[in-house]
Amino acid sequence: MPGFELFSDLERKEVNDVLDNGVLMRYGFDGMRKGHWKAKELESELAKTFGSSHVQLVSSGTAAVSVALASAGVGAGDEVIMPTFTFVASFEAIMMLGAIPILVDIDDTLTLDPKAVEAAITPKTKAVMVVQMCGSMGDMDALRKVCDTHNLIFVEDACQAIGGTYKGKPLGSIADIGCFSFDFVKTITCGEGGAVVTNNKDYYINADHYSDHGHDHEGNDRGAETHPFLGYNFRISELHAAVGLAQVRRLPEFIAIQKRNYTILRNALAQVPGVTFRKVPEGGEESYAFLNFFMPDAESGLKVAEAFKTNGIDVCWNYYHNNWHYIRKWDHLKELKSLFPISKEVKKGLDYLKTKTFEQSDDYISRNMSCLIKLSWTEDEVKARAEKMVNCIKEVSIL
Ligand SMILES: *Cc1c(COP(=O)(O)O)cnc(C)c1O
Repeated sequence: MPGFELFSDLERKEVNDVLDNGVLMRYGFDGMRKGHWKAKELESELAKTFGSSHVQLVSSGTAAVSVALASAGVGAGDEVIMPTFTFVASFEAIMMLGAIPILVDIDDTLTLDPKAVEAAITPKTKAVMVVQMCGSMGDMDALRKVCDTHNLIFVEDACQAIGGTYKGKPLGSIADIGCFSFDFVKTITCGEGGAVVTNNKDYYINADHYSDHGHDHEGNDRGAETHPFLGYNFRISELHAAVGLAQVRRLPEFIAIQKRNYTILRNALAQVPGVTFRKVPEGGEESYAFLNFFMPDAESGLKVAEAFKTNGIDVCWNYYHNNWHYIRKWDHLKELKSLFPISKEVKKGLDYLKTKTFEQSDDYISRNMSCLIKLSWTEDEVKARAEKMVNCIKEVSIL
């Protein structure tokens, strides 16, 4: 991560194909486009990559989550269970539909604790959304069991975990419906973009129509298409899809580089007393987009973060002290600071955030360091970085 580090002639060629015929839109203009259908091609390529029957590209990962939920029928007043540790997009996408995000504790996998999910289920619960944070995954079998027992839709946000697998299946393709982001900093980038992935034909058709104003996409006269139901515009452009098409063909190359760099860092840190690693569920293989490790307590977690900063080790975060990824700093959500009125039902549904505490999540996140694995690092650079990181952690442990 991120794929933009290795932009090449391959991306340029695909974009130039689009510019050469000038059709920047993914639908219609059949005569002008000289056979170039970049979004359609990228959808087939992704379906192959994930071993899934259907892929619908959209304009962002956030849009992918909203479209996925809408396609599965989640809407006003429904509760969607999600983790405390994720990107702000998770609750944004839920609230856009008038649904209610129910945040629950994570465990040492750094995503949903199946026991916390089970405890949060109410008659209003409609879906459970696991977020495969930082290149790894939740206990998918345990979460699937909870969903099946309670007849809930199982949604998988794999925006940060493209290339990871669970029991041989690509992350993002395991739950009932999966979501990906191809924003600028993801392993595979389109600049901006996202995808909904599913084996459920109904969900797919819903996603296809909903993301393009409800268009039925029958025939080749866009003006004559009907609208079986209301939709919105979450389309990706051909220019964005073109970049992603070149990038996704390079996924195996990117994952191999991530794995090499991750392994050097992990082997070095494993030698340091007190350092432990996130749990990867049995049968899981990370995408190696991040290396996550735990310090013994919150104090040493904060000290390591400070020591890394002082010593110029960038792209490593303690998310307890970060505004983007953890509930602790999401005051705009807790105080419901919205530009427009929010429904009474959602307001009431989010009241719990004023008082609820998340001790288990606090413990894991405050002790955790999340280190991005870059694609552009040389082996020597990674080795030098590993040595510096080890020295920082040892120094903190002595103090
Ligand atoms: C990046 C990301 C998103 C949102 O994707 P955008 O394309 O930036 O809208 C959603 N969930 C997670 C976990 C992400 O990392």
